[in-house]
Amino acid sequence: MTSVAVIGAGITGVTTAYKLLAQGLDVTLFDRNGYSAMETSFANGGQLSASNAEVWNNPATFIKGIKWMFRKDAPLLVHPAPTWHKLSWMAEFVMAARSYEANTIATVKLAIAARRHLLEMADAEGIDFDCVKRGILHVYETEAEFQSALKVNKLYEKGGLERDVLDDAGIHAIEPALAGRFRGGFFTPSDFTGDIHKYTRGLADACLRRGGTIRFDADVTRLSKRQEGGVAVFARRTGTQDEAAREDFDAVVVCAGIASRRFAHMLGDRVNIYPVKGYSITVNLDDEASRAGAPTVSLLDDKAKIVTSRLGPNRLRIAGTAEFAGENRDIRMARIKPLVDWCRYRFPGVSTASVVPWAGLRPMMPDMLPRVGQGKAEGVYYNTGHGHLGWTLSAITADTIAAEVAGDYAAPGVAVSGALKPVGTVRAEAERLTEAA
Ligand SMILES: Cc1cc2nc3c(=O)[nH]c(=O)nc-3n(C[C@H](O)[C@H](O)[C@H](O)COP(=O)(O)OP(=O)(O)OC[C@H]3O[C@@H](n4cnc5c(N)ncnc54)[C@H](O)[C@@H]3O)c2cc1C
Repeated sequence: MTSVAVIGAGITGVTTAYKLLAQGLDVTLFDRNGYSAMETSFANGGQLSASNAEVWNNPATFIKGIKWMFRKDAPLLVHPAPTWHKLSWMAEFVMAARSYEANTIATVKLAIAARRHLLEMADAEGIDFDCVKRGILHVYETEAEFQSALKVNKLYEKGGLERDVLDDAGIHAIEPALAGRFRGGFFTPSDFTGDIHKYTRGLADACLRRGGTIRFDADVTRLSKRQEGGVAVFARRTGTQDEAAREDFDAVVVCAGIASRRFAHMLGDRVNIYPVKGYSITVNLDDEASRAGAPTVSLLDDKAKIVTSRLGPNRLRIAGTAEFAGENRDIRMARIKPLVDWCRYRFPGVSTASVVPWAGLRPMMPDMLPRVGQGKAEGVYYNTGHGHLGWTLSAITADTIAAEVAGDYAAPGVAVSGALKPVGTVRAEAERLTEAA
């Protein structure tokens, strides 16, 4: 049987492992942590949001970004120290503005296609992930914000996403707990939310039940191509200086979040992921007044660039901020405070006496499309670089990469479910999915 190593047990790695197992392959998943979903897939915004598919390479966003650089509480922060990685990434980010429309439409299509896969896996494995299917509401305070949102909505329509346009009264009818007056908003009934950590942990358990192997506390130090084909994985126990043990596989899928860039380099590929830091708070809704005063519908407040998700009756997740400061995981209270202040302002009935802060690093490609497909060497594959939408997109990109790997290794005459070979670009894949639908 074909053996496949998957590097990284965040949402991308675990969904990939699950889909590879479903293709009948022999799967070993490696992660340096003791459990799955302990890094970026730990406490994100929770949104499964085709309605947040707009890529950020929009000239209007560049101008806003420059203005934000001078505001301490801005949703975007670029640490001034220039590094070659940051500068090269930013240059490619600006260049990708050429594909802003096409990439936004492709992302919407992928996000819509992902929903079915995500829910099917949860249903098949009985995973409770505090899923709330009440839609996502985007709100805009000013005329300018609303007008630019109308333009983005035209792209979403081209991608096949249906949304309702709302006025202030319509917004408050959908989410009565929300304070403030708004120029307008959009409601996307088909979007939903859930706890990425619970989902990933549940699916990792399902991988074990389905015969997969998981090596936790396995710090992968090196990946190398074997002369005879396939890949060698070198890993040692996390936190030790032990000699790394070697295991050989027919193929590897790199799903290592921000570490994917380094692994790609070892394998002769360039995957220019930059760690874009974000923050969240989880507000514990410990009393009845807080539970009643918290939103039940998921929100995106455009001006603050803040998203919310209600995770079951007792938790409210609030997330935002994009900080370019390299591989820095520090939780800075100066970035947490705006999230708490926003909660107090928009939801005055909610007590913020018990708040859990968190920071994570989005594995972001300059064009904001994930890298899904084969590398230069035989047996090397990637499913990584999902940036601000890894929770939304992983279920479909995992299906795509698993079908490609299975297609490449299937014995002649063996039927492979949904094989797509070769995958080509993510945009082509989005087109294929639309045609199939
Ligand atoms: C504040 C914030 C809010 C967000 N909100 C949303 C949202 O609402 N909706 C949405 O769709 N997306 C959201 N995202 C994005 C989403 O969370 C990420 O895209 C996704 O979690 C990335 O998953 P991943 O598997 O690529 O990376 P990770 O979850 O980081 O997984 C990578 C794994 O690789 C492992 N690894 C790395 N190096 C090694 C090594 N040397 N050896 C072994 N293992 C290794 C790590 O331990 C880790 O478990 C948000 C992100 C942030 C930061």
